[in-house]
Amino acid sequence: MSTSSKLGISVETILTHEGRDPDSQFGFVNTPVYRGSTVLFKKLADLEAQSQRFLYGRAGNPTTEGVEEVVTLLEGAYKTKLVPSGLAAITIAMLACLKAGDDILISDSAYEPGRKFADGYLSQMGISARYYDPRIGAGIADLMLPNTRAVLAESPGSLTFEVQDIPALAQAAHAHGARLIVDNSWASPLYHKPLALGADIVVHAGTKMFVGHSDAFAGTISTTEAAWENVERVRTLLGFFTSGDDAYLVARGLKTLAIRMAEHQKRALELAEWLSGQGEVVEVLHPALPSHPDHALWKRDFTGSGSLFGFVLKPASRDAVAAFVDHMQIFSMGYSWGGYESLCLPVNITKARTAVPRQERGNLFRVHVGFEGMEDIKADLAAALERYARAR
Ligand SMILES: *Cc1c(COP(=O)(O)O)cnc(C)c1O
Repeated sequence: MSTSSKLGISVETILTHEGRDPDSQFGFVNTPVYRGSTVLFKKLADLEAQSQRFLYGRAGNPTTEGVEEVVTLLEGAYKTKLVPSGLAAITIAMLACLKAGDDILISDSAYEPGRKFADGYLSQMGISARYYDPRIGAGIADLMLPNTRAVLAESPGSLTFEVQDIPALAQAAHAHGARLIVDNSWASPLYHKPLALGADIVVHAGTKMFVGHSDAFAGTISTTEAAWENVERVRTLLGFFTSGDDAYLVARGLKTLAIRMAEHQKRALELAEWLSGQGEVVEVLHPALPSHPDHALWKRDFTGSGSLFGFVLKPASRDAVAAFVDHMQIFSMGYSWGGYESLCLPVNITKARTAVPRQERGNLFRVHVGFEGMEDIKADLAAALERYARAR
């Protein structure tokens, strides 16, 4: 599973050894939580020179910079900024690419609060947002307008799992002077590297796989050298900052990202295959399954898969959906994902799609497979499927 990086060392070694400097922390292994607003200057000349490593806490501290260093190496980026949430990473990235009069193309499968930002805020700033079929690939060239300055992709979509052709999107975007932003939360940089495939900006909901324990919010924005200056400028102007406490939890999560991703991947695949054989199941939405419509694209551009996938159960009433989720013992219902605990969420996206009307062939659910015993996980789903079949 090891993937070599720019440094020529494996990602597992980057995760465990980079982003910390015990020599500057009295030998302690981990960079501690730096809490601080004020940073002191010794002399007037120092204040005037503004050349200290840190000037004011809002720009970052050793705890936040350690995280940024690791994510930069993983993504093969020029630089990375840690921000307070995944949504903040998306909004800052969009604002960095757009000004009044511009246009953005957003994947129909993109994270819904990002759509709401585009429709509810960018529109007020005189920026138009249009939505495209996540499977459009090179066809996006036909949608580019002279004022289109950004394309936002999420691959795979975290509710419906369409895989996007990142090289084709990048090529079309660049031919029209637009930047490509990719939400890479599902695969993590371990299994997908959008910058190497032509993207300009990669965002993560660090809240999910990086933190890994459902106990903190974070986002990251990693960019090419050309895209960096405006991202950092906009972030600075908006005053976004991540506390040392939250950054510490991201740093701690990253240490075990490789083994957690490998285990999540194995479990999610095993469960997806198991579900494929169950009578109530119409369809399993997991790109690593050969039955998935985008399997070939996933195989071309990804080296692994995540914890999250979807499945569709035979058409049935709301009561059957309630019977499925209301009495689960292992799975819980809740937003977010990426923690050690399994989650199962009924999803209704019919109203949330505008580019391609989506009609599921039954009731759609999304699961995040956690670290409980695999037999308990399957038994819980088997019981839920029985309740569903009875209520249907
Ligand atoms: C959760 C999520 C986000 C937003 O992250 P927050 O930290 O909750 O703001 C963005 N993109 C994807 C794919 C997500 O799953």
